[in-house]
Amino acid sequence: MSKELADLIFPNITKTPEDYEKMYPKRDLLEGAMVTRFAPSPTGFIHIGSLFGANLDRRLADQTNGVCYLRIEDTDGKREIDDGINVIINGLKVFGIEFDEGAINETEEKGNYGPYIQSKRKDIYQCYAKSLIERGLAYPCFCSQEELDAIRERQEKMKVVPGYYGEFAVCRKLSEQQMMERVKNGEPYVIRLKSPGSMSRKIKFKDMIRGNIEFPENVQDIVLIKSDGLPTYHFAHAVDDHLMRTTHVIRGEEWVSSIPLHVQLFQVLGFEMPQYIHTPTIMKEDEGSKRKISKRKDPEAAASYYKDNGIPKEAVIDYLMNILNSNFENWRKQNPHAPLSEFKVDPHKISSSGALLDLVKLSDVSKNTIATFTAEKIYNEGLEWAKEFDTELAELMEKHKDFTINILNIERTGTKVRKDIAKWSDLRENLAYLYDEVFYEKPVEYEWQSITDKETIHQILEEYLKVYDENDDKDTWFNKMKDVAEKFGYAREVKEYKANPESYKGHVGDISTVIRVALTGRRNTPDLYEILKNLGKERIEKRFVVVG
Ligand code: GLU
Repeated sequence: MSKELADLIFPNITKTPEDYEKMYPKRDLLEGAMVTRFAPSPTGFIHIGSLFGANLDRRLADQTNGVCYLRIEDTDGKREIDDGINVIINGLKVFGIEFDEGAINETEEKGNYGPYIQSKRKDIYQCYAKSLIERGLAYPCFCSQEELDAIRERQEKMKVVPGYYGEFAVCRKLSEQQMMERVKNGEPYVIRLKSPGSMSRKIKFKDMIRGNIEFPENVQDIVLIKSDGLPTYHFAHAVDDHLMRTTHVIRGEEWVSSIPLHVQLFQVLGFEMPQYIHTPTIMKEDEGSKRKISKRKDPEAAASYYKDNGIPKEAVIDYLMNILNSNFENWRKQNPHAPLSEFKVDPHKISSSGALLDLVKLSDVSKNTIATFTAEKIYNEGLEWAKEFDTELAELMEKHKDFTINILNIERTGTKVRKDIAKWSDLRENLAYLYDEVFYEKPVEYEWQSITDKETIHQILEEYLKVYDENDDKDTWFNKMKDVAEKFGYAREVKEYKANPESYKGHVGDISTVIRVALTGRRNTPDLYEILKNLGKERIEKRFVVVG
């Protein structure tokens, strides 16, 4: 009888679950290899929490020689946008995350476990739904929205758990004859699970980061197939993660409460359960308390925010790794240049409580990350960013390419590496004053320090020009600076000055500050010797003249 109902509902479904089991056999992978998946809805937006999850998917597959695939969950038509798949693929590529299998653009895909776009898997879901109907584990439900609302109202009045179950599951009680008649009459319907659960029984579940959790069994006759023939998230999750042979489902903690239902679905479908890692929600500190980061209120909720603000992908990923595993930070300190693949993520070490997104900390991480880059990489990536977000800077960087790279190369290696760039937008602050086009654009505001008397400044600059030679090595150069200091009554060494402060007007540092400020307007710059050398004598003289 149930077979008759199943055939009536799904006349075109001719394959059986066994056929699909054969089509998508267990993957031939080494023991311990993890098969993970990133399963977004194509909403045109990548949330920072999704990037966090996708990074974890990728890392775990990589470190176990497994597979990480991309599945597009587009069964909820109203939330999708046209270019949604490309937005996801390109948005993750920016962070160096790519997939072994799955959609590669709006129309193509790769891998043997597809289709990887849920809307193209209708037949597969319907085949499993058909089999459940045949086995008396699913049924059509004809309740209209109004009827469902009325049930909910009754439940509210009775103060009982809402939902479609027990005495409230009206269509569950229809005879198969009645069901068939209503289908034949053309009434719209959904397919519901005939839940075998009991509220008095409990299930035990083990999450890899949350440990053992106990829940009451699911009793809800949830919708498996909607009236448009497409599956709900829950049903698609069970069918897809089984057939695509996912070993580890990594998803947001908002799904933990659905676990009893998912355990039951895997049971009735006869599937082996994968392992689960429910990742913590990304939080932010707001006026002293923590709250969920919000797509509407917080620009940093979007993964694209980081690229647009010029934070390199390596820094963002390193930062997410910090949130993920508390021992990552230490590892990174010891291995600043090592590829991420050398760090082994331990899923058990992931914190299960809200992960705090701290932009100040990210900025720190980013400074350290950029400090490991070569001047060429900084130039190339900075230029790429500037072309989009600071075109004036981009033009200057291109026009003065070698000069810019040389400047960026100052203090780039050795024990004291510069850490003055946290994001590409900082390049303006770092470079602009060295380009004559910007320096002479408007009157310079000089940040003179201890020596502020214009006459003295002139004399020092004049004397300095007499002795400065571009070909001097650093020691000779510094000795000449000391000579100038001495000439003006300043100590050659800071410690000489400190020992006898009354014998000097100041020390060599006061003199070099005059040179630095006259040259750049500012008190802080990278190594002065290098700056002078890169500007060259002619430009130095010209800059000294405008001090006025
Ligand atoms: N499409 C689901 C979401 O965007 C995916 C959850 C999962 O990874 O299973 O929330």
